[in-house]
Amino acid sequence: MKRRKFLQSSVMLAPLAGLTQALAEPQNTIKPVVISTWNFGVEANAEAWNVLSKGGSALDAVEMGAQVPESDPKQNSVGLGGLPDRDGRVTLDACIMDENANIGSVACLEHILHPISVARKVMEKTPHVMLVGDGALQFALANGFKKEKRSISPESEKAWKEWLKKAEYKPVANIENHDTIGIVAMDKTGNLSGACTTSGMAYKLHGRVGDSPIIGAGLFVDNEIGAATSTGVGEEVIRIVGSHLVVELMRQGNSPFEACKKAVERIVKNQPQKSKEIQVGFLAINKNGEHGAFALQKGFTYALYSNEVPNKLFEAKSFY
Ligand code: ASP
Repeated sequence: MKRRKFLQSSVMLAPLAGLTQALAEPQNTIKPVVISTWNFGVEANAEAWNVLSKGGSALDAVEMGAQVPESDPKQNSVGLGGLPDRDGRVTLDACIMDENANIGSVACLEHILHPISVARKVMEKTPHVMLVGDGALQFALANGFKKEKRSISPESEKAWKEWLKKAEYKPVANIENHDTIGIVAMDKTGNLSGACTTSGMAYKLHGRVGDSPIIGAGLFVDNEIGAATSTGVGEEVIRIVGSHLVVELMRQGNSPFEACKKAVERIVKNQPQKSKEIQVGFLAINKNGEHGAFALQKGFTYALYSNEVPNKLFEAKSFY
């Protein structure tokens, strides 16, 4: 077929394709719904549900949810309560993505209570998608965020001093030296958004950035398909662009569970030996509001909140 003719006929088909999709949309979509990683996901979901149940947006819900562990000085893997890098500095990573593929991210940000909200400001107020280190701090302060005087908790400082005695970098799966909150939600209108925030791997090199603030790795949202987020050793998630992979696997027809499982299997294939010693977990929802999760090791928990399941904690299945 001549190219011109082909273009004409595809233009004619486009509205029909839209119609087929609209007709095929299941009537029993579960919405609103919110899921988030680890035990602290329960409290985060409760806050997100406050927004969703009043008809609020998925974007507001995930931001509010993510702020919960960020505010908690006892959480040693998210926010300013987090364990520091090996120089004793607490450096924070966060990102956010909405239903229109708007994205914002901060990495290696210090002294700020809510990196997730700075990430949202980057998304809404700048022509960029990611700010790091001093630039991120400068931007936060210029946008009304307060510089916290104390940027390491007394508990984390004590733990770091203890760590310095041997100074061995050995992340232990599911032990508190890492754990990110990744939270994805679908609101009443069917829009998806996600947020991800962490203090990163404890005792990392200063300046190390993990998967959590990297769109596609720690978080990805495609409003036609679904949303995914990750936790665990970020280097392995970045290697497979994990959350984007999960969403693309759902696009290919996999359920959220199958998609998370296949992403974990990709990590095992890349790093058969190393994958035995580390933790990585994925969590996803699709456009029908169905959810799924899968991890390398046992012990990855996540929380789900919907009208049918009012905030329940689950343990994900695992490869090992
Ligand atoms: N993914 C985070 C990072 O690599 C840590 C974690 O979730 O445990 O920084």
